[in-house]
Amino acid sequence: MTIDTAQLVAVIREVLAEHDGGPPRAAAPSTPRPGVQGDGVFADMDGAVNAAAAAAQEYRRCTMADRRRFVSAIREVMLKPENLDNMSVQAVIETGMGNAEHKYLKNKAAAEGTPGVEDLETTAWSGDEGLTTVEYSAYGVIGAITPTTNPTETVTCNSIGMLAAGNAVVFSPHPRAKNLTLWQVRQLNQALRAAGAPENLIVTVSEPSIENTNKMIAHPGVKMLVATGGPGIVKTVLSSGKKAIGAGAGNPPVVVDATADIGYAAKCIVDGASFDNNVPCTAEKEIVAVDAVADLLKFEMVKQGAYEASAEEVRRIEALVLNQKRTGPDTGWVGKPAAEILRAIGVEPPAGVRLIVCEVDASHPFVVHELMMPVIGLVRVPDVDAAIALAVELEHGYRHTAIMHSRDVKALTRMGREIQTTIFVKNGPSFNGLGIGGEGFPTFTIAGPTGEGLTRTRNFARVRRCVLIGDLNVR
Ligand code: NAD
Repeated sequence: MTIDTAQLVAVIREVLAEHDGGPPRAAAPSTPRPGVQGDGVFADMDGAVNAAAAAAQEYRRCTMADRRRFVSAIREVMLKPENLDNMSVQAVIETGMGNAEHKYLKNKAAAEGTPGVEDLETTAWSGDEGLTTVEYSAYGVIGAITPTTNPTETVTCNSIGMLAAGNAVVFSPHPRAKNLTLWQVRQLNQALRAAGAPENLIVTVSEPSIENTNKMIAHPGVKMLVATGGPGIVKTVLSSGKKAIGAGAGNPPVVVDATADIGYAAKCIVDGASFDNNVPCTAEKEIVAVDAVADLLKFEMVKQGAYEASAEEVRRIEALVLNQKRTGPDTGWVGKPAAEILRAIGVEPPAGVRLIVCEVDASHPFVVHELMMPVIGLVRVPDVDAAIALAVELEHGYRHTAIMHSRDVKALTRMGREIQTTIFVKNGPSFNGLGIGGEGFPTFTIAGPTGEGLTRTRNFARVRRCVLIGDLNVR
């Protein structure tokens, strides 16, 4: 069956407009033009990297005020209502994953809140020997590999941080997000040109593929690699022999203990685990609840839009959404709405259903593996110590994200110390840890494996020391 894209956009737009005055509703999205070169899109990887290298050279001659202007131009073009609209709607259509309204929020947060040039703080020492400064300086060309799950958010966020640090960037998007990423790279190039930036500070290829990604990784013109994706690509960049940042997979557990405000915890978990249909790497992927509150938690979750699957329904969901080896999701079901999953197992979805909760044991694939869909396993444990221990086990040492609902400060502290994740959200939905509704800046590249954490401009820069002997110390 061929899908009429225009018709699909119209339907999604209508649904979004009905919902809560939801944001995306501007003019029809521009039609992506795959295969057409120009505006940062190149026919082959060699051409793309060479153009970015020339741009990086020219960029060195620009002032910090120029950089600030270019970063502002990126923010402005990505925040145009029709562009936010296009990215949110088209991402759902092209990747087949997620929720356009939530993608709108993520795209907006990335464009508004990603740190810029101000993140490059200089350190100085002055004294009898003179003056020494330590500055953040560009790498040159960065190769950035982006995921299907946050395709445009990652490009916006990486573009701001990498250009603010003085670099040019070559994007290697997931082939499933090709058209939208090409469109975005073109928009960014047009905006940068209008702001007077060197040509080709942001480039990509017209046919993204694993082969092209590998060419980019190996290209001598690329000085640093940043991989946002699953374990395979993180391992690949870390084995490249180049400076690399790896932002890899997670399996965030949410622990609920007996002291938690259960009604509030239930709302947070349903909000967080259904956000963008659970595709964010930070979203709650399994619940570990102490026995004393597990039933109440499920009851409250149902009030918030969750559907509790019976044991028989859990078996049908398993057969539908797991891969054949039961080692992860069937990619066809990643990021699909809860209602679609329920319909596919023969259950008429209740109005407004957002999440499917399945009580299972601790070895079940729904809690062991990252599903990235609004199906969440719940495991019942006797007490908070057992909950923390199981959460640590289910997080698999990814050091990514964990969430806990508790009013026991000692228990919260213990969980934080034991689980060692890059993000630990206490008493809120997971997306609060991304700078959406919580304090702190947003990012869509969370580097647990290499330790940068929530990446920011300074992570895309080299540290250089400049020493002047004997003078410029005025004390
Ligand atoms: P993915 O690993 O399938 O793809 C990510 C990118 O890597 C894509 O551009 C893909 O084309 C490329 N790629 C994958 N394998 C490759 C290989 N062998 N050689 C060359 N290129 C390769 O991931 P996805 O499905 O797009 O995204 C979901 C995964 O990413 C989840 O595991 C999620 O947790 C993780 N993720 C992590 C972060 C983070 O900041 N830590 C952010 C978003 C997504």
